[in-house]
Amino acid sequence: MAYIPDETFNRESFPGFQKFLKDLCVRSRKLAYDTASDAELVPALRLVDTFMDTMKSSYLSFFSLNLVIPKNHPNVLRQLKTIEQMEALPPKNQRLYALTDHQKLLINPKLTASLGFSQEEFYQLIITHELCHIIHQAWTEDRLSYADELFQDDRVRGMLHNMGLEDVRYLKRGFALLDEAIAQEVAERVTYYNAKRERPKKEYRNDKPIFDSKPYLTNYALYGELQSFADDFIERLPFIKNTKDPFQTLIQCSFDKDFIKKIKEEMRRHPELLDSFVMMLACMGRVYEATYKVLGLSNSKKDLNVNEYVDSFQKIKKM
Ligand SMILES: [Zn+2]
Repeated sequence: MAYIPDETFNRESFPGFQKFLKDLCVRSRKLAYDTASDAELVPALRLVDTFMDTMKSSYLSFFSLNLVIPKNHPNVLRQLKTIEQMEALPPKNQRLYALTDHQKLLINPKLTASLGFSQEEFYQLIITHELCHIIHQAWTEDRLSYADELFQDDRVRGMLHNMGLEDVRYLKRGFALLDEAIAQEVAERVTYYNAKRERPKKEYRNDKPIFDSKPYLTNYALYGELQSFADDFIERLPFIKNTKDPFQTLIQCSFDKDFIKKIKEEMRRHPELLDSFVMMLACMGRVYEATYKVLGLSNSKKDLNVNEYVDSFQKIKKM
């Protein structure tokens, strides 16, 4: 799986991408030589090769799968080019699959075949997911300031107060759930496409402590507990919900740097949707926070169980 530059890749339609990949490869290899111990060096270099191969095939798949529309290509390219380096996750973090830390991508060098994927496929799943977060960083500032803006409204705060969610962080994390679910959807689409396999059908699972064994519907390998929230949230976005493949449209829109501006504009145009939009977003934020607490940040059972908010979410979505 060595990284072999492909002459046909540097087409006019991908300006500068091959050069960027080569430079990133050089930087990441140098970093491995500078920091890895003797025992870690070979796996670290192998990881760089895997990463470069995967990044290239993920990027090409975005186009094959029509996830990037021409208008958003410059944004996608600009975002990916912000990646400064790729390196192996340090051993103390190796219970994670990967981590994006500002412009640094840290990937677990010890991933093996998992969850029905071959090792190569699993790397694609994990790396594509992180690349998607990097693309979404184009609207991080916007989502934080939009949440602040919504929270300044007394009426919005009153609604959140009645739900026990009167804290702006729930709105912010609601958008973070959306970011996470979109990243996973993109990763699954790209990985199954490259594996030339059909995606599994959605099925009920009951393996999440945050739902206290209540079943939830998903066909994601990871983050399955978030999928249905994103599916339902799309129903609150009129510019997306009536399209042929709404999730594909959501992905295309999320690859636009003005994604949040567009949502804001839509809410201005459809003020009747604003209340349910805000309440659903806050419930999503509460659920997302619980998924993180499961990773070891909280022992409180009260914090972990979110069924009350799942029920509220279900009621609101029918409004
Ligand atoms: Zn993620």
